[in-house]
Amino acid sequence: MIDYNKIGNFIMTERKAQKLTQAKLAEKLFVSEKTVSKWENGNGIPDTNTLLLICEIFNISINELLNGERIDTKNYIDKAEEKLVELQKSKELGDKRLLALEIVIGVLSIIILLSFDLIAAFIPMQTWQRIVLIVFGFILALVGIGFALKIEQVAGYYVCNKCKHKYVPTYSQVLWSAHINRTRYMKCPHCKQKSWNKKVIK
Ligand SMILES: [Zn+2]
Repeated sequence: MIDYNKIGNFIMTERKAQKLTQAKLAEKLFVSEKTVSKWENGNGIPDTNTLLLICEIFNISINELLNGERIDTKNYIDKAEEKLVELQKSKELGDKRLLALEIVIGVLSIIILLSFDLIAAFIPMQTWQRIVLIVFGFILALVGIGFALKIEQVAGYYVCNKCKHKYVPTYSQVLWSAHINRTRYMKCPHCKQKSWNKKVIK
């Protein structure tokens, strides 16, 4: 919405800040003094060509002139940073939940594997039936553990013990690295050294 009064007041304020009379500004813009007065009273706005000239003289953007105010860039940046912090926090929360889910999936996988093996061992059945049960339990557990590892790879970061660089490793790095709980022996992509890298959420 174009607010003629607001634009008019803005032009007047900026003109006075530049210590220009209406006549002086009119001269610079190749318009009559009456025209400037008309704008400042909210009875019209400059045409496109004149808009560009005004912006140059007042050192403002067309956007600011049409909004009738200077736009505070710092305020914009603060707002953007606030949004980034919010985003970061929601990622942290999501990662925490994922890592909790990883434990559930991991434990379930082991329970499934054990129970299938126990059934195969103690319940009377044909040999081929035992083999199918054991293989099936093994495949289910493998899928579960693969899924849990995927979570461990993408949730949060690993921090290099040598250079403190934070990174998200590749799936194969996570799959093939030695680990104690969530601390893994991996090569840091930044300093290229191998060390025990801790899992961190932020
Ligand atoms: Zn490193």
